Amino acid sequence: MSPEFLSGLNERQLEAVTLPHQSALILAGAGSGKTRVLTTRVAWLIQTGQVSPSGLIAVTFTNKAAKEMLTRISATLPINTRGMWVGTFHGLANRMLRVHHREAGLPQLFQILDSQDQLAAIKRLLKGLNADEERFPARQVQWFIAANKEEGLRAAQAEAHDEFARRMKDFYAAYDEQCNREGVVDFAELLLRSYELLAGNETLRAHYRARFRHLLVDEFQDTNRLQYRWLKLLAATGASATGAIFAVGDDDQSIYAFRGASSANMQDLQRDFAIERVIKLEQNYRSHGHILDAANALIGHNRRRLGKNLWTAEAKGEPLRVFEAATDLDEAGFIVDEVRALRADGVALSNIAVLYRSNAQSRVLEHALFTANMAYRVYGGLRFFERQEVKHALAYLRLVANPDDDAAFARIVNFPARGIGNRSIEQLQEAARAAGGSLWAAARAKAEGGRRKTEGEDASPPAKGIPAFVVLIERMQETTRGLPLPEVIEIVIDASGLKAHYQAEREGADRVENLAELINAAATFVAERDVQPAGEAAGMDEPDELTAFLAHAALEGGEHQAGAGADALQLMTAHSAKGLEFHSVFVSGLEEGLFPHENSLTEVDGIEEERRLMYVALTRARRRIY
Ligand code: ATP
Ligand code: MG
Repeated sequence: MSPEFLSGLNERQLEAVTLPHQSALILAGAGSGKTRVLTTRVAWLIQTGQVSPSGLIAVTFTNKAAKEMLTRISATLPINTRGMWVGTFHGLANRMLRVHHREAGLPQLFQILDSQDQLAAIKRLLKGLNADEERFPARQVQWFIAANKEEGLRAAQAEAHDEFARRMKDFYAAYDEQCNREGVVDFAELLLRSYELLAGNETLRAHYRARFRHLLVDEFQDTNRLQYRWLKLLAATGASATGAIFAVGDDDQSIYAFRGASSANMQDLQRDFAIERVIKLEQNYRSHGHILDAANALIGHNRRRLGKNLWTAEAKGEPLRVFEAATDLDEAGFIVDEVRALRADGVALSNIAVLYRSNAQSRVLEHALFTANMAYRVYGGLRFFERQEVKHALAYLRLVANPDDDAAFARIVNFPARGIGNRSIEQLQEAARAAGGSLWAAARAKAEGGRRKTEGEDASPPAKGIPAFVVLIERMQETTRGLPLPEVIEIVIDASGLKAHYQAEREGADRVENLAELINAAATFVAERDVQPAGEAAGMDEPDELTAFLAHAALEGGEHQAGAGADALQLMTAHSAKGLEFHSVFVSGLEEGLFPHENSLTEVDGIEEERRLMYVALTRARRRIY
């Protein structure tokens, strides 16, 4: 008897879901049920006893998708999803490194740098090296480092054909040294470090290979080279192959070439894992006929495609709607009016999306929505955890967790202003460099010196400047020890002076609210973690709440937002709409240079990538496209 959750699948989908233990590639167009097939297969594998919940890995594109998958699995099966490895590549790599931090050469409480933090760290590094910022812009160094890491290359292996690139290599090497010293890792490092850990440690590799017999990957077309190699290492190939990779993807939706994603991974997968037949799903269950026709016609212009047909049993539905606006303001006004009408027709705001090519385009829209008093939610852009006030608060928390975190130290040593001038900070940096230690160590040494000097005197004057800062952080560490996370954050926000600082600011109300929201986010995080602890065999090497929360903040960037859950219009880039679906979709800013993006005019096959992106945008809609 087949389980109930299999009914309703079409023949091809059912075949894919119930494939025997072998690697497989499901290549299928938008809305054909790829994600559904992947989720159902996870449930089926577990339900039929072919694998235990902890014996598989499922990689999805966002943490949100991972959470949805877990929810769906626990709705289908009466199992504990605790301990399941479902998440993004970054999230899973982080998890592995937390468990094996010693073997990976990391401190137990290593912190994660998001790209803003990374840029700041690089600027700090370049300054320390007296590098010419005009010739070597920090952003370019950042790009060089990330691109190499994503190819799996360390500084020593990075290619350098000219003097400029050789300098870049030096910066890369110095940057890695700095990160190691400070116990921090950037995004690309998470995966590279975890890859190197597996590659270099036979015992661990054997352990994980024996454990993970099934590796399931959604949106496979957007994996980069290192991600693919990571999977390959875990699954093993050839005669020693133990794991099977179940990959679902759509070459027509490959939209991350600029980040090193490569659809060559599809060909490699077929070769490396001896996949003879690629399964195709061709029925689209999402969109009305006109929408699908438009998407198919558009993508048909691309020359390099693996080729597949997509059809729907649904009616043709409404034709696409085109509105030619004179300005972006006009466009925003039109969108507001139409959204109102949709809502009057009973469509929930959360079921309507406005997509655009670049984050900056949201500003005009946001203004119009704000004026119209319409609830909306922006994904991406300035993400919640990237907001200035939130980053400041997180920096205090990072120092509490690990005072040797120089990036955090530099960020808030004089914020809110406490009279520590640039000169004192530079002196501190020199002292730290000379001693080969952290800024914190140098600051403490300075404070100690001060304390000794005043020893013997009856009443030492209250500490100021750097010594006062040292006392502040030490006191935070003491008073927060053992307290629940939300309380820790509350104390830190108060004691640091951040709250008072923003309360005194004329336009600081939003920022104060965001600080409160951070406490909220922590409470939610703790509650969810209690249900589903992220750690391995609980207790063992499980990071404490604070460290786990900081990792969450770095990894989830914008997936937490104030007012989440309320009914709100969805605003996001076409890139971040991948995998999602809505009743109605507005694709805004369709003009030459914006979407298609101007870069695409000069890049090889740039216009093909723009078309794929537009294809993604169109196929998000179930019923109506503007
Ligand atoms: P994308 O390429 O955009 O990621 P996808 O191929 O992953 O799309 P899904 O999101 O899995 O597609 O499915 C699209 C929609 O179709 C979902 O609402 C899903 O529930 C529905 N669907 C998929 N298969 C079936 C089916 N056999 N019967 C009814 N609905 C289905
Ligand atoms: Mg999908």
